[in-house]
Amino acid sequence: MQGIWFSELQTPGLALSVKLKKTLHHEKTPYQDLAVVETESYGRMLLLDNIIQTTVGDEFFYHEMIAHVPLNTHPNPRTALVIGGGDGGVIREIIKHPSIEKATLVEIDARVVANAREYLPEISCGLDDARVEIRFEDGIEHVRQMENTYDVIIVDSTDPIGPAVGLFSAEFYRNVYRALKPDGLFVAQTESPLFNGRLIRRIQRDLAEIFPIARLYLATVPTYPGGLWSFSLGSKEYDPLEVDWKKAPQLVTRFYTPAIHQGAFALPPFVQEILDKR
Ligand code: SAM
Repeated sequence: MQGIWFSELQTPGLALSVKLKKTLHHEKTPYQDLAVVETESYGRMLLLDNIIQTTVGDEFFYHEMIAHVPLNTHPNPRTALVIGGGDGGVIREIIKHPSIEKATLVEIDARVVANAREYLPEISCGLDDARVEIRFEDGIEHVRQMENTYDVIIVDSTDPIGPAVGLFSAEFYRNVYRALKPDGLFVAQTESPLFNGRLIRRIQRDLAEIFPIARLYLATVPTYPGGLWSFSLGSKEYDPLEVDWKKAPQLVTRFYTPAIHQGAFALPPFVQEILDKR
């Protein structure tokens, strides 16, 4: 292969390689190694600890699916919390919903937001919206302190390593439940069904013990391991499969549609087996 390539080691036996045009920025933040690179196929790409977080070319699959599924499930979401998500992509999607009065971003690493503002304007462009509040705090602590506050909570975290480990725990989900309003709901990115089946099963079981409605849905994310990604949803009242679409807002999107929302909950047999396994 000619030119300079970046390879993310996605599993011990699998790497995803992208051809680089140049490195735009590289630093060690107090929390992680951060780089923004220009790639030939996906445009600009954010890397944290050499793991692909988002790219300008494929970010819409993930950001639309993690945001619009919960926001359209809630009939009138006014307050939303994003934990992680310092690139701003989830916030950009949240503020498309006219009912949103306040969107709070709780990101542990201020350098992620600063670099997203500088190098990824297509993704971070919603962060200056008047309804958005940005707090540089640990999301685990934040939800511990909140009660009856949010209609929707979205966890857009890094993988379950380092500061994100606690975002995948049952204790955190119980605190999320308390931080939600009586009819609130929550979604988290929960990794690859191909490579993280045990984690997904454990999370779904934790959520089923805490929330009356616990569901898994899937979406394609080309740059994530395996290309198929999972999202776990816990809801106090509203079922994502019973949305009143006549009342849902008209959104300008590139991947998400009401039909894709419904279809994302249709689990292939190999994923259902992961959930059913004892
Ligand atoms: N979409 C990406 C993915 O699925 O791999 C995640 C992107 S977003 C940049 C992830 C963010 O979570 C990072 O900026 C990281 O600093 C933040 N993060 C990790 N642990 C956190 C915590 N405990 N509280 C708040 N933010 C956290």
